[in-house]
Amino acid sequence: MKSARDNSKVAIIGAGVIGLTSAVCLLEAGWRVTILARERTPNTTSDVAPALWMPFRAFPVDRVLAWARASHAEFSRLAQTPETGVVMVPLFQYFDQPAPPPWWCDGFIPFTTLERAELGKRFQAGYKIEIPLIDSSVYMPYLLDRFAKLGGEIQEATLRSLADVPEEFSLIVNCSGVGARELVRDEKVFPIRGEAVWVRKPDGIGTAIVEVADGPAPTYVVPRRDHVLLGSVVQENDWSREPRADIAADVIQRCAAIQPLLKDFNLLAHKVGLRPGRAEVRLELEQPTNGRAVIHNYGHGGSGFTTSWACADEVVQLARS
Ligand SMILES: Cc1cc2nc3c(=O)[nH]c(=O)nc-3n(C[C@H](O)[C@H](O)[C@H](O)COP(=O)(O)OP(=O)(O)OC[C@H]3O[C@@H](n4cnc5c(N)ncnc54)[C@H](O)[C@@H]3O)c2cc1C
Repeated sequence: MKSARDNSKVAIIGAGVIGLTSAVCLLEAGWRVTILARERTPNTTSDVAPALWMPFRAFPVDRVLAWARASHAEFSRLAQTPETGVVMVPLFQYFDQPAPPPWWCDGFIPFTTLERAELGKRFQAGYKIEIPLIDSSVYMPYLLDRFAKLGGEIQEATLRSLADVPEEFSLIVNCSGVGARELVRDEKVFPIRGEAVWVRKPDGIGTAIVEVADGPAPTYVVPRRDHVLLGSVVQENDWSREPRADIAADVIQRCAAIQPLLKDFNLLAHKVGLRPGRAEVRLELEQPTNGRAVIHNYGHGGSGFTTSWACADEVVQLARS
């Protein structure tokens, strides 16, 4: 028997991690999917993220934690397949001030408390935690390829409003990230600007991520397959997409302080990403007013990768409803 979705064409707005993951899940559930997007990999915010499985600046916390845990299971599976770019790696998380273990471990992710001697002179607390690292430079092309192999189509388009989506589509899934502010006039959406610096991999750096988690912005050194990614800054309500040389210098200096192998760094790239901030992730079905329904899936702050699979599963549930 044919189901209603056999004839339903879905338009997904956005080709970041949220749009691509939603698209893959809808295709696997039997829908016909076209992505309409202004930018695609390697030019989205998602391409700037390191990306660690780690909830950060996304709300409400209980919903984000549930999505993160469900997505963790999927990333653990993907880590079995090298071409996904997902690997399980140790994260050494340090704090300048005394600090409890990260709240997101909470009986779900095992961790080791670092001994005084392992903290050196600077740090007051530290933890070793194994997490999925979702190397976005490999993972985003992998997702795009998986989407294409499932029969998904992608079109370059800049939409001024949802009314610009062609009428052939009976369902719209809005995954426009920070672009939702303009697209659906959602004034609750704001940018949380970040910058990341790519440097050549120094010999002997290994695979462990090193992060100082307190202070105005986290400082992290993330060894990836072909390079090392350094970050970051957290600047709310700053829409500038221009990388700033003073910020790169500060990030490199902070990172070299925790990873001495970076003292003689070799700069490869320097990019800006606008994390889609919102008091609450918007993941809901808007009932049709003009004959077609809209599912919103945006506002994931600093947790877009971390929550992506569970949010995409919820999109499929909403589409079925
Ligand atoms: C420095 C930095 C570090 C980060 N670290 C992590 C991390 O370690 N772990 C983690 O989980 N997350 C991290 N994040 C956050 C993560 O990158 C975001 O949550 C995620 O990228 C959001 O994905 P998205 O698909 O919603 O948005 P985007 O990647 O921004 O994609 C939005 C898409 O919508 C399209 N679009 C927007 N408006 C329109 C329009 N009007 N018409 C057509 N298309 C439109 C865009 O072109 C794009 O294709 C980090 C972000 C930054 C900047």
